[in-house]
Amino acid sequence: MLCATGSASVESGQTSDSLSLAKPVAHVQFSPNQKRTTPIMTAAPQNIRALQEEGVLEICWSEPDIVKIPYKALRCSCPCAGCVNEFTGQIMLDPDTIPEDIKLTNVSFTGNYALKISWDGGHDTGLYTWERLKSICDAIR
Ligand SMILES: [Zn+2]
Repeated sequence: MLCATGSASVESGQTSDSLSLAKPVAHVQFSPNQKRTTPIMTAAPQNIRALQEEGVLEICWSEPDIVKIPYKALRCSCPCAGCVNEFTGQIMLDPDTIPEDIKLTNVSFTGNYALKISWDGGHDTGLYTWERLKSICDAIR
């Protein structure tokens, strides 16, 4: 019984120690530096729609600029390490193995810089950055 009380008071002592340690950390603020290191990247599209019936991904970059990328073209441009050799940039994926009517099963944002696309058949390792999407759009225009 006495031992239990003793250990309880030691624990509370440790808690106040860690609180005092946390204080200097909290005072370190990087906001003055962060302001001048805003990265310049391709801006995110205004709107993205997956049109399942047409089989296209519609990307609206900015108002009249809307591009429809056919799913197959998008799938063949998958930038993942399984589809493109990350050292040579050589495309490993054979477009003939991709069905003409391939379906997209999910689209989600990764951070604020890329789109993660999951394909019917289970391929979901490709991260399409805005930059890459823009170059795909430019190629099919
Ligand atoms: Zn891939």
